[in-house]
Amino acid sequence: MSLNKKESSTNNGPSAGNTPQELPSIAAPLNDQQLGSLQQTVSGLSSQQLAWVSGYFWGLSQAQPQTTGAAAPINQAAAAVAAKPAGKLTIIFASQTGNAKGVAEQLEQEAKALGVEAALFDASDYKGKNLAKETHVIIVASTNGEGEAPDNAIELHEFLQSKKAPKLPNLKYGVIGLGDSSYEFFCQTGKDFDAYLAKQGATAFIERIDCDVDYEADASVWRAKALDKVKEDLASGQEAEVVQLPVGQAAAGHSQYTKQNPYTATLLTSQKITGRDSGKDVRHVEIDLEESGLTYQPGDALGVWFENSSELANTILAKVGLSGVESVEVDGESLSIHSALVSKYEITAANPQLVTKFAELSGSKKLQKLVEDKDKLREYASNTQVVDVLAEKKTKLTADELVGLLRRLTPRLYSIASSQSEVDEEVHLTVGLVEYDKGEEKRFGGASSFLAQRLDEGDEVKVFVENNNNFKLPQDDNTPVIMVGPGTGIAPFRSFIQERDNRGAEGKNWLFFGDRTFTQDFLYQVEWQKYLKSGLLNRLDVAFSRDQAEKVYVQHRILENAEQVWQWVEDGAYIYVCGDATRMAKDVHEALVIVAEQQGKMSRDDAEEFINDLRKAKRYQRDVY
Ligand code: NAP
Repeated sequence: MSLNKKESSTNNGPSAGNTPQELPSIAAPLNDQQLGSLQQTVSGLSSQQLAWVSGYFWGLSQAQPQTTGAAAPINQAAAAVAAKPAGKLTIIFASQTGNAKGVAEQLEQEAKALGVEAALFDASDYKGKNLAKETHVIIVASTNGEGEAPDNAIELHEFLQSKKAPKLPNLKYGVIGLGDSSYEFFCQTGKDFDAYLAKQGATAFIERIDCDVDYEADASVWRAKALDKVKEDLASGQEAEVVQLPVGQAAAGHSQYTKQNPYTATLLTSQKITGRDSGKDVRHVEIDLEESGLTYQPGDALGVWFENSSELANTILAKVGLSGVESVEVDGESLSIHSALVSKYEITAANPQLVTKFAELSGSKKLQKLVEDKDKLREYASNTQVVDVLAEKKTKLTADELVGLLRRLTPRLYSIASSQSEVDEEVHLTVGLVEYDKGEEKRFGGASSFLAQRLDEGDEVKVFVENNNNFKLPQDDNTPVIMVGPGTGIAPFRSFIQERDNRGAEGKNWLFFGDRTFTQDFLYQVEWQKYLKSGLLNRLDVAFSRDQAEKVYVQHRILENAEQVWQWVEDGAYIYVCGDATRMAKDVHEALVIVAEQQGKMSRDDAEEFINDLRKAKRYQRDVY
């Protein structure tokens, strides 16, 4: 459609007297009245807006039968793209805690801003056989601790290894793997998807990237490169004019506050909820989201950006012979190395790369030997803080050398311990302070010590909500739920119960909780007792591991109640597990397999398959790390 002044001299002139002169009339299949009201409607628009509107209507015309004058409902999809390019980009995320989902969403927005048609899918909503119909696919995949696919991608991951996987000669793909190089199976799920797609005949249009925990910068560079290639490919496939989305539209539907743009909230409460004689300091934290508009669902996590302790920064600086005033450049900004350590770099948790680089810089024989054995290196890195790695050999470093060793600071995610139906604009967390002795000195966790020690009530804390669709209450309020949450793993179940209470959900609720001692470590005891009394909580089984000579854990309680647990499962119960991934979650899984084996009279293999099927059906969900 061209808006040409010359054509305005035809007899289709504007009929409304106050129609602006600049608006031309068109030799168009509209009657005077239609044209007049159209001109009135668009009279206030700028030339840029008019250009967009022209593309918008062209898109509409392509999306409906070619009749004249018929009013049609507005089609949003047609608004995005004026003429379809030859193919489109499909983005699939395999995400456990939400990082991969976040990267995929950014990719979608950037694609759309570039005018590339893109569709975003949760891996659990994507049918693997549709890959055969795609031209361009990007998979963003995180990996679970033992190299397993995230829960939302288990099915797709299995499907692509199976005989049912389609041949994919026409597919071009890219993979972003997200992981943590402290783990043996670093980015394994990304590597798997890469290998499976290649095996089916698909071609990687860009080399896979394996990103570490500080993935933002690397992922962003990769995305830009990948989108350039996709755009080039799609444009050469067919002459197609693609209309860009108006500014702001791409982000519609997303909260204004994100990991990159967190909300500055206020700490309302940080209250110790373990007893005076407890070996642990666990805090109940309340944060005010005020007018932020941030919303969350039970099962979601809160991302917390934290600052490191100034004393720890000083200790590190002293170890490498720096005073703290030396300046470094971070993101184009010049600041003192002390400030950089406090607010820009991870100075608590070490990682294998840091150990490897420092082994080289320091010449430490002990570290150099460790570097040769990958397993030992990983174990050392995950059990040693940065300051203790640097203490292995006294070494003078420049400020640039020091920051060259460190990863950028990343926020910590905490399972949310409240439901908005109960606490409105607040969000509650259950935070275990990480602390231990190292010789004469104390060591603390970076984020937990920030929340529990360095932040006072009324202070500001930067937060964002990380949705977790892999840990959600059943849609049907009549469904029974079994919750297993020892230690701070109890957090999301406080949220679940508050939600079910407020929704008046009729489904039965069974909680398994465990911790060290009944008197000191029974987190939220009064609340659970209240829910038991009201009948909302049908069963509460506790395992206090250090109240007797023999250790008693939640999985023992599950096995003692195997018959009832099985009955609940037969009645359709959903099972949720939250807390420690390395030991507890595995032992609880094993207990569930045993329950199925014994009570369901199954072989070991069938029992394992049964529990796996529960997982696939989202009736067995875990939030563990
Ligand atoms: P914890 O260390 O898990 O201890 C809680 C209870 O579990 C204690 O009684 C402990 O007994 C017992 N326990 C030890 N080994 C066990 C096993 N193999 N199976 C079952 N129970 C076992 O509690 P916490 O200090 O509160 O730490 C909670 C853990 O969960 C942390 O690793 C935390 O990072 C994680 N967490 C994860 C999430 C999440 O993924 N969203 C949320 C919250 C917490 P003993 O100590 O007496 O042996």
